[in-house]
Amino acid sequence: MEFLSLLESKRDGLALSSGQIDWLVRQISTGAIPDYQVSAFLMAVYLRGLSREETRSLTMAMRDSGETLEFPADPRPVADKHSTGGVGDKVSLPLVPLLACLGFRVPMISGRGLGITGGTLDKLESIPGFCSRLGREEIIRQVQEVGCVICGQTDRMVPADKRLYSLRDVTATVPSIPLITSSILSKKLAEGLGALLLDVKFGKAAFMSALDQARALATTMVSLGNECGVRTRALLTEMNQPLGRTVGNWVEVKESVGCLECRGPASLERLVLECAAHLLHQVGKVSDVEEGRRQAAACLASGRPKEKWEQMLAAQGVDLVAYQRKMLEDTGGPFVEEIHAEKDGFVAEVDARIIGEAVHSLGGGRRVIDAAVDFDVGIDELVVVGEAVGPGYLLGRVQARTSDGARRAASSVREALRWSAEPVSVDDSVYEVVLG
Ligand code: URA
Repeated sequence: MEFLSLLESKRDGLALSSGQIDWLVRQISTGAIPDYQVSAFLMAVYLRGLSREETRSLTMAMRDSGETLEFPADPRPVADKHSTGGVGDKVSLPLVPLLACLGFRVPMISGRGLGITGGTLDKLESIPGFCSRLGREEIIRQVQEVGCVICGQTDRMVPADKRLYSLRDVTATVPSIPLITSSILSKKLAEGLGALLLDVKFGKAAFMSALDQARALATTMVSLGNECGVRTRALLTEMNQPLGRTVGNWVEVKESVGCLECRGPASLERLVLECAAHLLHQVGKVSDVEEGRRQAAACLASGRPKEKWEQMLAAQGVDLVAYQRKMLEDTGGPFVEEIHAEKDGFVAEVDARIIGEAVHSLGGGRRVIDAAVDFDVGIDELVVVGEAVGPGYLLGRVQARTSDGARRAASSVREALRWSAEPVSVDDSVYEVVLG
């Protein structure tokens, strides 16, 4: 087979066979084709699209490009959740131990943040000692023993995506539904899952800001996931304001622990319980989602997920005494700037994009893939839409590395807020469910 003729076919809008796609992915993963030709192929796919069959073949070939996880037979279903990412989206942290306590095995392979959306691994690595680099056997052992793990992709998992994603990032070919679908699903299918819940965000700070685009992505991923034998469902959720009251790394860990202790915030707890309820329903542990919500809420209230969280941290190298000590410290960054309201009003908007950019500028995110992240900077005590405020009311608190940074971020927080003289109704629940 010749790469050039496959490239010509895609350029001209012709469909590739699954044999051709298998061959192509093998060549891409082994580095047999140079970057400039792979980049041309990506642009051809971006412009011409892929049929349902081609997307399926690409996803399966990418999944099989490296090692995959296989778990021993066990009555506990293997399940995971994937979010397309958002500002303040820390759902995975409380959700994973909750699911383990609800009788799931959860091998969550997560990523780092790039751009304004945070990454689960960066948040976890703000916990001193946390190890996110595990090998295949270690992942399987921890999932069997503890019930859950959150770690990075092993060096040998889905190498095709590593190459394709890094080229997409620099060739303006990221926002393509077949390429996103194959990238996300190949990695999730490599986890050996029985059930997958996708949280597809739309709104100002979402990867797919338009609802119809987010819905199209969700529908494609749900139908392909199910075709590949994984019970897959998607929630469409809004990402116009940050999720919860914190944005950053360590501040989000603290808020997640608060959620595990049933201290809210309400929007985070609701989404965590919603995800758990759907997964319980997907695997047939409950007969309807409402019963799933009841079971998930009771489990969270029992305190067991908080113990499971600490068990997971200890299994991944965290010294729990040092962790508890850090939890008790009040602030992260050395420079703190509080933002206060000047008059009465209701919060009508907290622009997640502006807040995400502010935390990014503080050093809490990265611009290139290997850049270091400042774990201790961020924003906490942030107001949420609908909140009634009066003069002196705390609207948010910036934690920064420099006083200048603190001042600039504080002014961004002010810029992110819109006001209403009338009460503002809030609906931050799930917008839509895409069933398989
Ligand atoms: N996340 C991924 O893993 N891949 C994409 O293509 C987009 C988001």
